[in-house]
Amino acid sequence: AKEDGKNGFQFFTKDMNESVARKSQLAMALRKGIGRGEFSIHYQPQVHLETEVLIGVEALVRWTHPELGMISPAEFIPIAEETGSIHRLGEYVLNEACRQNKAWQDAGVEPFRVAVNISALQFAQKDLPDIVSQALEASGLAPEYLELELTETVIQSAQSAIETMEELVALGVHLSIDDFGTGYSSLSYLKLFPIDTLKIDQHFTKNIETDSKDAALVKTIIRMAHELGLNVIAEGVETKAQVAFLKAEDCNQAQGYYYNKPMPAEELDSFLYPYKKS
Ligand code: C2E
Ligand code: CA
Ligand code: CA
Ligand code: CA
Repeated sequence: AKEDGKNGFQFFTKDMNESVARKSQLAMALRKGIGRGEFSIHYQPQVHLETEVLIGVEALVRWTHPELGMISPAEFIPIAEETGSIHRLGEYVLNEACRQNKAWQDAGVEPFRVAVNISALQFAQKDLPDIVSQALEASGLAPEYLELELTETVIQSAQSAIETMEELVALGVHLSIDDFGTGYSSLSYLKLFPIDTLKIDQHFTKNIETDSKDAALVKTIIRMAHELGLNVIAEGVETKAQVAFLKAEDCNQAQGYYYNKPMPAEELDSFLYPYKKS
């Protein structure tokens, strides 16, 4: 038994060392990779539930490391946040997403919004409005076609959060709250923030059919959002039954594998083709 315990301990230590080693390897590789073009963006359609018309796309960053292959943003975003790389990475995503959306418009596609995820650390940076404004200027994208997805974690300092949001809204961009319902923050901020959309977290969507309490939460979020004059989008929609539930509850929009997976811009082109004007 003693020996087992010892082996168990060694195994655990080795595991920990490996994860620490991978983390510092990724931290270094992130810094270099941004300048080396290892990052790209996949776009996932957001549709109007009733008509299934495309109303926007969410930009999701992808990293293909030359040796390690595809690495999930769920793994590298937290590391980028810890090591400060999130600022350069976030700027890349913002600029590229604006450039791509303008390119679609220039190609004659019916205009839609691109939604970009903004980390709480980026949001806390004084010059975020300047960075956003520069991305709009450089790309020529009209601000109404850019949406910034903020999470409830930005809300920790409510007063300065409101000021930053007001500055962003003054630029003409739209704001949404991502992963709504997972942040344990007070609901009272909803009436103070100049946002126009709530995104229901995929955890709730996933359990709509199986968990009556999650279903009740989703219904309540949709109703509350509408009472407050906000638009609601459900993320992580995978099944026909979820679509039926969301439609019955008057949810406005949806995003998820049921419709499309996130995909490179060139692949999305084939879906956009029917929308082209000429
Ligand atoms: P998120 O913002 O909540 O994005 C939704 C995630 O759900 C994406 O994972 C997307 O690919 C995935 N997804 C979409 N539809 C479905 C579905 O029907 N079922 C399921 N199970 N999943 C679905 P992804 O691309 O791996 O991104 C993970 C997280 O990484 C994002 O969660 C976001 O928090 C973060 N992230 C991604 N790109 C960026 C970025 O450019 N900047 C920042 N700050 N964070 C990002
Ligand atoms: Ca998001
Ligand atoms: Ca989300
Ligand atoms: Ca999420």
